[in-house]
Amino acid sequence: MFSSSKVSEFSTLPTPFYYYDMEVLQNTLELVKRESSKYGYHVHYAVKANANPTIMSTVQSYGFGADCVSGNEIKRSLETGFQANQIVYAGVGKSDQEIQTALESEIFCFNCESIPEMELINELAAESNKVAKIAIRINPNVNANTHHYITTGVEENKFGISRWEFENVVESLATFKNIELIGLHFHIGSQITDLSVFKGLCLRINEIKQWFIDRQILVDHINVGGGYGVDYNQPDENAIPDFETFFKIFNDFLDLSSNQELHFELGRSMVAQCGSLISKVLYVKNGVNTKFAILDAGMTELLRPALYQAYHKIENISSNGENENYDVVGPICESSDCFGKAVELPATKRNDLIAIRSAGAYGEAMASRYNLRDIAPSIFSNNL
Ligand SMILES: *Cc1c(COP(=O)(O)O)cnc(C)c1O
Repeated sequence: MFSSSKVSEFSTLPTPFYYYDMEVLQNTLELVKRESSKYGYHVHYAVKANANPTIMSTVQSYGFGADCVSGNEIKRSLETGFQANQIVYAGVGKSDQEIQTALESEIFCFNCESIPEMELINELAAESNKVAKIAIRINPNVNANTHHYITTGVEENKFGISRWEFENVVESLATFKNIELIGLHFHIGSQITDLSVFKGLCLRINEIKQWFIDRQILVDHINVGGGYGVDYNQPDENAIPDFETFFKIFNDFLDLSSNQELHFELGRSMVAQCGSLISKVLYVKNGVNTKFAILDAGMTELLRPALYQAYHKIENISSNGENENYDVVGPICESSDCFGKAVELPATKRNDLIAIRSAGAYGEAMASRYNLRDIAPSIFSNNL
């Protein structure tokens, strides 16, 4: 929902651009801080959701750690002021150079996804006389009930280590002298709105943890990853996810050993709702059974609809006309460059401003220069 004064400010700016409501961001971060602190939980921000420097430094200012999936994300996090001892590093394909970056930076923990990866980390750590702290990323075989492209915790995914490999991992670890096992890591998918999925994850972790305890393997921390979803249908009514209930589920259902820390890696739920992609209508074109509203923003600015058939709320913030249906599309030469079919919008014409909501996570971060497009700028509410 944008006030008319905001809309007139927007109309003076070149489009498309990402607009960030810093009040929504700050209120969200404050709530995450408050609710996680109740239980002494540690929250790492999943940098891949949005690596914009202003967004990152705002997140950092609340004292959160960082969850990185590349060497460059580690470097960017350190430059932004995140503490090395609050950085975790995940990914199925860590390169030699990225591992070296992480070793030199003395990050908190590598989240390891395979035995060959542990072997390489052990070797590189030995070369530089270091002991790398690792957690094993376990595939708990819990279905996140989300889109299959963003499900990561079932056995057919490329992510994590499955139950049948545990014995091998434990045997290998015993021979790796430059690796110290400090945690068990889980991350089962993204945009999970059914909170019973997290309850199921807790119960599964309790069993898996016991398997390790039975073998005298005690770890300092459990990391349950991220994946908490947001309400894409009602970005104003539900601008801030229910973090109180979210963290309480872990407190209620996860058995932590004494002094064992619990870590989270939240991305989308922290930054999605503060962002909108603001675009202009270039043309309204008549199709056979439909009208197309052709925008100056496309899949190059927001890939999620094309990539995962994701829904984003679309608003015409310039018009008060009668509602009509439009297929809202971008200018890119791909049929999948479509933000929504048969979207009900007030009568829409050239130069109307269109807001595509909940674009703060995996929006700007996935921008590309396909078709040699320029990268769209970011505008922050406190600078307008
Ligand atoms: C992407 C990712 C996250 C964050 O996921 P969200 O759904 O954005 O919360 C956390 N941990 C890992 C390992 C990831 O790959």
